[in-house]
Amino acid sequence: MNAVGVDVGGTKIAAGVISPEGKLLNEVRYPTANARERLLSTIAEAITEVKRGYKVGGVCLAVPGFILARENKVLSAANLEAIEGIPLKEELGDRTGLQVTVENDANAAAWGEFRFGVGKDVDDLVFVTLGTGVGGGVISHGVLLRGARGMGGELGHITVQPAGPRCGCGNRGCLEALASGTAIARHAREVAEERPDSALGRLAMERTPLGEDVLDLARKGDEAALEVLREAGSWLGIGLATFVNIFDPEVIAIGGGVSEAGDLVLEPARRELRLRSHSPSRDLVEIRKATLGVNSGMLGAAALARGEYEKYVLGG
Ligand SMILES: [Zn+2]
Repeated sequence: MNAVGVDVGGTKIAAGVISPEGKLLNEVRYPTANARERLLSTIAEAITEVKRGYKVGGVCLAVPGFILARENKVLSAANLEAIEGIPLKEELGDRTGLQVTVENDANAAAWGEFRFGVGKDVDDLVFVTLGTGVGGGVISHGVLLRGARGMGGELGHITVQPAGPRCGCGNRGCLEALASGTAIARHAREVAEERPDSALGRLAMERTPLGEDVLDLARKGDEAALEVLREAGSWLGIGLATFVNIFDPEVIAIGGGVSEAGDLVLEPARRELRLRSHSPSRDLVEIRKATLGVNSGMLGAAALARGEYEKYVLGG
């Protein structure tokens, strides 16, 4: 049976009808509204429009925030506060006539990569997405780990540097505060100030360098930009070593915009991983680039909507 996956982002809502094999059959996109009622009606409209003409069995929303899985509510979402506390199953179930569930966006993306993407040939996958923030999801023995309430798998908020920079979550030194695109841009400004003669330093005199600028300059060989990416990669590797020691995955999939940097970030990550995790897991684990791109959350959510909760989700 087809299902609808909805990626509810801070700026846009993307809804897709997905076949059981992971094929995207139809898709609509709407801008995200930031008031409760408008947001609900936009999501309901997106679902209704995308499923027109298709037989679908359910819908799952992938949301960037902490979710309470059993209640199908979002507890907190820093970039989407309007969705907090809404009983989504009831509110949207009535409007769409479908069974509605909710999942953390990175957990949904992890499930998408596991079912249809880079992890479809393995049973044990750790997924880390490096974007504006750092999200994650863990699949162990084919089961999505969600914890007691559905808040598990927040890999971006493990502490890797206790006195490190402040994270969006309020703590200090989270992996997100050191290896996200936002962290790279912040560090780039600091390095640019220390090294005004570098290409990065010269750019910073004209405008604030973005994550993409750092990648562009690093590819051209600018040592200051390379240093920024190396440092982010090292912090990432410290995080990955912890994940390897806890979960012993076959594959770690890296997604998100920062993964475009490839080995400029992943080589220092692999180095830290080898230093801080144990043999044979550290030698056997493969670090791969995620393959589904921005659709991973939508595809994973649809797969979860199809009733895979009962069988393949642990906790929540
Ligand atoms: Zn944090």
